[in-house]
Amino acid sequence: MNRPIYLDNHATTQVDKRVITAMMPYFTDYFGNPSSSAHVYGWEAEAAVKQARSIIAQAINADETEIIFTSGATEANNLAIKGVAEAYFTKGKHIITVQTEHNAIIEPCQYLQSLGFEVTFLPVEKNGLLDLNLLSKTIQDDTILVSVMTANNEIGVIQDISKIGAVCRKNEIIFHTDSAQAIGKISLDVQKMNVDLMSLTAHKIHGIKGIGALYIRRKNPRVKLASQIQGGGQERGFRSGTLCTPQIVGFAEAVKIALQDLDAENQRQQKLRNYLWQKLSLLDGIYLNGDLNQRLAGNLNISIDGVDGSALLLALQSAIALSSGSACSSNSTKPSHVLKALGHPDNLAKASLRFGIGRFNTQEEIEKVAEFTLKTINNLRQFRST
Ligand SMILES: *Cc1c(COP(=O)(O)O)cnc(C)c1O
Repeated sequence: MNRPIYLDNHATTQVDKRVITAMMPYFTDYFGNPSSSAHVYGWEAEAAVKQARSIIAQAINADETEIIFTSGATEANNLAIKGVAEAYFTKGKHIITVQTEHNAIIEPCQYLQSLGFEVTFLPVEKNGLLDLNLLSKTIQDDTILVSVMTANNEIGVIQDISKIGAVCRKNEIIFHTDSAQAIGKISLDVQKMNVDLMSLTAHKIHGIKGIGALYIRRKNPRVKLASQIQGGGQERGFRSGTLCTPQIVGFAEAVKIALQDLDAENQRQQKLRNYLWQKLSLLDGIYLNGDLNQRLAGNLNISIDGVDGSALLLALQSAIALSSGSACSSNSTKPSHVLKALGHPDNLAKASLRFGIGRFNTQEEIEKVAEFTLKTINNLRQFRST
């Protein structure tokens, strides 16, 4: 049986075989604990971790001592948000974030609200971008943290992080960005972007699930953070637990591969994305969600008039693996909070599709996807009107 064409690359990606190859020796041969400083097994593992840390640090123009490994972007986000809140609560209790953030930001912020913090969830413009004036106006004397994601996991919109960072820097407020969808897809530079904390993950760029990192700025300014997991004091005390050497090595390999041909791959994906959009937009009642230009090359998110969202997904399922909204909320019948924030009425926001193109998708696949999606929408609409 032919499996459907995989176009859910914002949810996760197929692991690149080169990542597995890089990881393999660290399961069996070099299996030591990187913290074991008394013998060669420990030294080998520590050297591998150090090299991986340095590759990831370089990828965002940070120092290797500023990279803390975590289980993924969810944990990195939790450490950043709760860690800052706990370390700076005597300075202030106000946090600013955005309505279109991933739940791994929204939920920790809501948790902090329940503890007495004040959180402002800013709306976005119709194109999904944050209005900088609105941000400036929202800052209070007691604002301690601003968190705005780099690239959105549903609509692919890329925020103007440097400018947002500059506003925060001017007001001496710590700035965190969730770059889970951005690392390895656009170039990142924590200095130029004025970023103090940055969450990363491996599995959106053909690395494996369960490994990520948090960048924590050490100077200009030095960011304080309360650790959320205590124990053996690994990762400078920010995140205890024995480091998983193979995953860390694989994470660095995934980043290295992605950066090698970033521009060429982006151009290729953008061509495929634009082809798909050009084909689908021939139909009436199809709307693009999010800014067309300031977005990830492999992302297309559309809303469709006159069809039922779940019927559409069901009809596409056998041929195309994709989701409506985000994977985390696609089981529910609630419309996506991201599309709602763009100002869609519920019925339109429900009939939406997120196409996520990745490294292993081909032109031939995208042609099939365009054809099948067009046919399916037409069929459903016909069925409805008779
Ligand atoms: C996938 C994703 C996360 C969660 O990352 P995990 O590594 O799966 O925990 C967080 N934020 C964004 C924007 C994501 O796309």
